Amino acid sequence: MQLTRKSNEAPKVEKKTLGISRRQFMKHAGITSGGIAAVSFLGTGMMRKAQAKDVPHDVPTEIKRTVCSACAVGCGLYAEVQNGVWTGQEPAFDHPFNAGGHCAKGAALREHGHGEKRLKYPMKLVDGKWKKLSWEQAFNEVGDKMLDIRKESGPDSVYFMGSAKFSNEGCYMYRKLAAMWGTNNVDHSARICHSTTVAGVANTWGYGAQTNSFNDIQNANAIFFIGANPAEAHPVAMQHILIAKEKNNAKLIVVDPRFSRTAAHADLHCALRPGTDIPFIYGMLWHIFENGWEDKAFIQERVFEMETIRREAKKFPPKEVTHVTGCSEEEVYQAAKLMADNRPGTVIWCMGGTQHHVGNANTRAYCILQLALGNMGVSGGGTNIFRGHDNVQGATDLGLLFDNLPGYYGLTTGAWNHWTNVWNLDMEWMKGRFDQGTYLGREPMTTPGIPCSRWHDGVLEDKDKLAQKDNIQMAFFWGQSVNTETRQRDVRDALDKMDTVVVVDPFPTMAGVMHRRQNGVYLLPAATQFETEGSVSNSGRSQQWREKVIEPLFESKTDLEIMYRLSQKLGFAEQYTKRIAKDSKDMLVIEDITREINRGMWTIGMSGQSPERLKLHTQNWGTFSNKTLQAEGGPAKGETYGLPWPCWGTPEQKHPGTQILYDTSKHVKDGGGNFRARYGVEYKGDNLLAEGSFSKGSELTDGYPEFSAAMLKQLGWWDELTADEKAQAEGKNWKTDLSGGIVRVAIKHGCIPFGNAKARCIVWNFPDQAPVHREPLYTPRRDLVAKYPTYDDMQVHRLPTLYKTIQDRDMTAKYPLGLTSGRLVEYEGGGEESRSNPWLAELQQEMFVEINPGDAADRGIRNGDTVWLEGAEGGRIKLQAMVTPRVKPGVTWMPYHFAGVMHGESLAPNYPEGTVPYVIGESCNTAMTYGYDPVTQMQETKATLCQIEKA
Ligand code: SF4
Repeated sequence: MQLTRKSNEAPKVEKKTLGISRRQFMKHAGITSGGIAAVSFLGTGMMRKAQAKDVPHDVPTEIKRTVCSACAVGCGLYAEVQNGVWTGQEPAFDHPFNAGGHCAKGAALREHGHGEKRLKYPMKLVDGKWKKLSWEQAFNEVGDKMLDIRKESGPDSVYFMGSAKFSNEGCYMYRKLAAMWGTNNVDHSARICHSTTVAGVANTWGYGAQTNSFNDIQNANAIFFIGANPAEAHPVAMQHILIAKEKNNAKLIVVDPRFSRTAAHADLHCALRPGTDIPFIYGMLWHIFENGWEDKAFIQERVFEMETIRREAKKFPPKEVTHVTGCSEEEVYQAAKLMADNRPGTVIWCMGGTQHHVGNANTRAYCILQLALGNMGVSGGGTNIFRGHDNVQGATDLGLLFDNLPGYYGLTTGAWNHWTNVWNLDMEWMKGRFDQGTYLGREPMTTPGIPCSRWHDGVLEDKDKLAQKDNIQMAFFWGQSVNTETRQRDVRDALDKMDTVVVVDPFPTMAGVMHRRQNGVYLLPAATQFETEGSVSNSGRSQQWREKVIEPLFESKTDLEIMYRLSQKLGFAEQYTKRIAKDSKDMLVIEDITREINRGMWTIGMSGQSPERLKLHTQNWGTFSNKTLQAEGGPAKGETYGLPWPCWGTPEQKHPGTQILYDTSKHVKDGGGNFRARYGVEYKGDNLLAEGSFSKGSELTDGYPEFSAAMLKQLGWWDELTADEKAQAEGKNWKTDLSGGIVRVAIKHGCIPFGNAKARCIVWNFPDQAPVHREPLYTPRRDLVAKYPTYDDMQVHRLPTLYKTIQDRDMTAKYPLGLTSGRLVEYEGGGEESRSNPWLAELQQEMFVEINPGDAADRGIRNGDTVWLEGAEGGRIKLQAMVTPRVKPGVTWMPYHFAGVMHGESLAPNYPEGTVPYVIGESCNTAMTYGYDPVTQMQETKATLCQIEKA
């Protein structure tokens, strides 16, 4: 889809010469606009390499193996480098994930080696003008400002916004930087994409990650998408989905308010009303229970409290589901029957499911559906939760979160003890870095910080209502663009109010340009991941080692170098890098960081993936099967590509990785497992452990709790530890024993270190034990509010949070249209990077809103007209109308990658010279409204209200 530009707010795409013309490039790379553009599963014969034609033919070409940074599929590519210049690229035909396929974004990656629109050197805003700085000045000024604010307001007044674009090593060191600065005010974009998944899924069966792999979807007989549109958001994942359709005649069911490009492939499309996922799933479960389609043996052995769900589902007979969701009775019945008749089936969801004020409950409902069908722990089944950015999985795993330390250890004193132990530091020193005392009864070190969805409330909220010493005064926006956050007018006010704003990024991003400041903004140019090396985790938990393609462009520095230099300026570099060697240029040895990660990450089994093992996999892509992900020969024979966690034990133990979580048909040493014992052994007197179910080869032939030193002694296995292991393991459990002895001995006896329990359908520590339907805060269905109300207002961690106060206001007269948002194939995230890429910018130049022909006609709007869209809190944006029946009457949809225009005014003059992206447009989030999940503070971007009028 391509709209014609009519307005003149945004600049046209400039014609650039990159060695070959765009048309040649497009032809050679096989790019077409949109869809699963260049997915090449027809064989390598169709591929051509894009080449810079004016590089002499006799300059030797170095081939670097790297990984696309545009989404979490993790496609491999060969980068061709001549004289240190990135001159060509090919999708890796022998890569186990993409087998030669790329989408438009992957095919356009070489732009990273060109960097036309990038920040070139450090800058600061002085009296409204951008002024060049040296790095030394930048570190000194930024560091001094941090220390001043610390003295005046405490460490919690500096906010550390991090990135899903960091390498694993970068994520880990950033979380450590915030910890050693003395704050939990650190977060990244998983907060606003899959935090509700992590909370909901982990609290159902143990880990909050995708359970199977992209490749394993090839084995599914049914594929159920809810709030996911991989044809645009994860195009190469479609390779595996379409293979399942071809090979197994797999049934595709798409539940989405919009007829998306994925829906175009479906056997059944159910256009539910935004925000009604839970009634839809209960509606399916109603049919499943009524017809006896549930897997009774599986539930008996491995599921806790399906009875509660049976009672909840009874509240949603077909008529009620149709009344609430807008889907017909037949559609809901067919969705249930197709899933029941075609097992194993998989469930795939993305942000259409997660970005709701009931997001955690949505994700639990999806899990419960799979538990009822017995689709868990099997090939072709599972919950395949597609992540967005290339390393959002790794960033989450490594605790780049306001409520966690690396490895999901939480923020308890025990968690801090574990990590100070890993870092060889004194706990008293660590404690001394934080604010002392309590605020609103909470101790800063062990209290979750402020989520990145609401950092602006940390700036603007009344100080007396905050559970920290003072408001946020200064923030780093490091690899994260603020136009991805709702309530953009508040975001701008917060940027205006803070003492200092620091952007660390290859591009200026919105934090650097959307404010109305004259001073106090720093832009520090960070290198991309192609200018460094390190590991990255894809959505399927596989890690890949990226080779460095080129040296950092211009004066940019790597993330790790900037973090290290800051720690030097701030005076804690010695503690920060205590176990990490430095090279001759005083740069951190990246492999040592990976090793330190291995040393501490026992909880998820991110302990066995040494840099050496990861590099070996990268060097041997072609030995891993595109079907099974296993190496069929060669030096990694028998291992799963990328050693997906849990990769148990130490690297020397050579665990092959776990492709499918909770799979009892395999021995734990071969990647088998069962649900995790994470919530104790009983609840109100009922057994939480598995009954008669255990993984292959387990010597404990029933459920069992997680392993500890005490348990090893009870079992008589303690003496199998070495003397050194005993000394380290005494008083510890499998998560905190740094020797790995407890894990080693458990596995030797065929047992999973985390125990063997049932998955649970109720979560007693959440606001709703079973998923409960609650109408969106801004619902178009006022008639349903009394029956399905939202929560009462509440304090969530450090911030007061509104629910009922907002829902009680009826806004439907002024804002009658439902509003939701989503992703385009051409762009990613906040879009600053991809809209600055000429190859991609050409494909989609205009911000637009999809509106149904009937709604458009009622407003006198024609396709291509410029319109004003106003959100229910008054945020107004000017954009183009796309009149299309792909959205139902009463529903509108916008992409979320645009920025650079606000309330109809171009922000182009605010950018440093030469850095305005090729395409700018209004951010959909200027019109998006309040609404946060009570467990994770996920923002609501998928169900609100608006009005549209012709401009
Ligand atoms: Fe592959 Fe995703 Fe990159 Fe496209 S954006 S090439 S699907 S990793």
